[in-house]
Amino acid sequence: MLTIRLKDGKDKAARRHHPWVFYGAIDSISEDGKGFAEVLSTDDSFIAYGWYDAKSHIPLHLLSWNRNDKADESLIRKLTRESIARRKAFFSLPDTTAFRLIHGDADNLPGVAADAYGKEIRIIVSSRFADDNLHIIAEEMNSCLHPSIIEAVTDKQFSSLEGISERIRHFRDGKEAKEEGTRENARFIESGIWYEAAPGKGQKSGFYCDQRDNRNAIERYAEGKTVLDLFSYTGGFTLHALRGGALSVDSVDSSESALRHLLFQIHLNEDKGTIPQGSRERVTITDTNAFEHIRGVEDGKYDMMILDPPKLAKTKGNLENAMKAYKDLNRIAMMKIKKGGIIATFSCSGALTREDFRKVLEWAAADAHKDVEILRTLSQGEDHPVRLAFPESEYLKGYILRVL
Ligand code: SAH
Repeated sequence: MLTIRLKDGKDKAARRHHPWVFYGAIDSISEDGKGFAEVLSTDDSFIAYGWYDAKSHIPLHLLSWNRNDKADESLIRKLTRESIARRKAFFSLPDTTAFRLIHGDADNLPGVAADAYGKEIRIIVSSRFADDNLHIIAEEMNSCLHPSIIEAVTDKQFSSLEGISERIRHFRDGKEAKEEGTRENARFIESGIWYEAAPGKGQKSGFYCDQRDNRNAIERYAEGKTVLDLFSYTGGFTLHALRGGALSVDSVDSSESALRHLLFQIHLNEDKGTIPQGSRERVTITDTNAFEHIRGVEDGKYDMMILDPPKLAKTKGNLENAMKAYKDLNRIAMMKIKKGGIIATFSCSGALTREDFRKVLEWAAADAHKDVEILRTLSQGEDHPVRLAFPESEYLKGYILRVL
């Protein structure tokens, strides 16, 4: 095992259980190599166990602050088991079979985002640590949950940053297996609504289960409403608006395949009787740039809008431009919505704090000359926990607004 000493005065964040350590804080490394490391202060007091890999954009990830843990493969197994055990309440839900099992660093497993979709598990790999240790995590998940298959896909955005190859790996019975031929979609249910996620495709691991609570939150406002679902993806919010009694929903996204899948899911739910019959006729899909589309929307046409854009601030570096884009989108929505209308607005940019997002909305309202109330404050689902010591784990922020 490596021994890494942190510089005096640069070990505060690590002692407070922040999991990321950069070179600026590292005083010495005992030898070349990668793998488990004991992390000490210069006076040799124990700080944590971690994983060191010079090729990672975060060279040292801290995994455990408990000196009694063993810094070897068994730690990864233990962290996997503990993460799954913390989701225990989800396993007995009658109407939801899609949820996050491991939420990366927030569960002390950096770069591992694992979601259950019914009997399947899908993992998004975004770190060298996750890429190297995937077989251990998969084996442990298998012995806890016995999924039909575990599919792991490299996150495109991180493959070059971390220097890991873009690939899809499969595990059956906990062992890596070659998959040939096509597999059926994973079918699952969320809050009583049915969905399918195609294997190896789609965005994230095929679905955004972080929005679960927020989809339910908007449903209560949908009755009799004319709804615009901007950045609809495969229709999570659209389906909830329909179940909530929306008069019509116009769903807009730049992904044609997502919109086609949205229509499929409307049929699926009509068949299952989970949304009103005739829902399909109430929905239009438009494959276009939503930022442009909203500019052409007729004033007062909609009395409810959902704004769930992709991550606009990818890093702190483009925060300013991202804030402008969020502001513009929300300003136009506030100007166009019918008097008294409802806007559910989100930001999933980790680099944008909740305070900054709220400021953006304040500026948008001021520029639109509208009085706007916050009805509800929204966040990511509890299966995507936010660790106090790791503020970066809070990324999804949302508000339900009423424009007076
Ligand atoms: N609301 C969705 C998730 C949205 S994710 C749900 O509940 O499942 C963001 C979506 O924005 C993706 O579907 C992506 O295809 C879409 N998108 C990205 N850029 C876009 C653009 N310029 N115009 C329209 N859609 C865009």
